[in-house]
Amino acid sequence: MATNSTTQYEEARKKSCDNCASALAPALADVRDPQSGERFAILRCPACGLGHTVPAPANIGEYYGEPYYGQRHSFTARYCAEYRVRILERATGRRRGALLDIGCGDGTFLEAARRRGYRVVGSEMGGAADRAAAAGIDVRALDELEDLAPFDVVTMWHTLEHFPSPNEIVGRVSSLLGDEGVFIVAVPNSQGLQARFFGGDWFHFDVPRHLFHFGRRSLSSLLERHHFAVECWLHQELEYDVFGWMQSALNAVLPVPNVLFQSLTGKRVSGTSELAASYALGSLIAPAAFAASMLSGRRATLIAIAKRGRRGERQAGAGSNPPEEKRA
Ligand SMILES: [Zn+2]
Repeated sequence: MATNSTTQYEEARKKSCDNCASALAPALADVRDPQSGERFAILRCPACGLGHTVPAPANIGEYYGEPYYGQRHSFTARYCAEYRVRILERATGRRRGALLDIGCGDGTFLEAARRRGYRVVGSEMGGAADRAAAAGIDVRALDELEDLAPFDVVTMWHTLEHFPSPNEIVGRVSSLLGDEGVFIVAVPNSQGLQARFFGGDWFHFDVPRHLFHFGRRSLSSLLERHHFAVECWLHQELEYDVFGWMQSALNAVLPVPNVLFQSLTGKRVSGTSELAASYALGSLIAPAAFAASMLSGRRATLIAIAKRGRRGERQAGAGSNPPEEKRA
């Protein structure tokens, strides 16, 4: 955000919460976009805890481009896909059915799920959609999914925070799922230890591409609004945890942000001295980052496994309190 613009900030404060429509309050005033260098702010809803990036860019597509799309998971892509399939099988009791992944990227996860017998459809935009289609994945625009419904499972791996209205997209997911359909949604945990420790330097804030910032309270509130009951919370996406500690720490001390991330994910990095410093410091930080990830109870990501009630229950407005946390 243009934090030097008081007027703009005050205007942004007049926004209301996308989830519960409450008035928003300032949370973080100075969060840097590691790609553009622009500054944004984060407002938080006092009622449900949902964070909002302000100002939300009029043309968010300008903040993506090839530096964003690419091998987001680099050498861990296969491990990540297999881990997610294990969560999928656990959530569905290994009942193979129709799976929709919203924000499917290059389709690595869907390919792995298809190998296990799921019938898969993806939704994606930009160049990644072409790569998923080239891998033989049926990739559709969001407004083309109604004809393929109902799905047995919908997954959103770190994509909900990118949409201009999580409330709208979760409502759409609810309408696409069959009775007792399963919704698996993963987001960065903006209420975790990492986010609190690093503040505006936290790697996973990734403003303005992340338009919203969830914690467990805000995510469960949003899901219950659309008559999902959270059955289980998971936190163990180790690569997000360990790398989040490393890159956030590097961002706090080095002048150019995210150099290590860019390098590991195959992007071009200009400054050789920054690259050398990132690898040298990163290797020193790595053991501590791993230890912090193991010890930290409130980790860098949240994964909710939620189930939708039967149609009658939904019409009765059945919600539930979030259950106690379970570990994978
Ligand atoms: Zn709210």
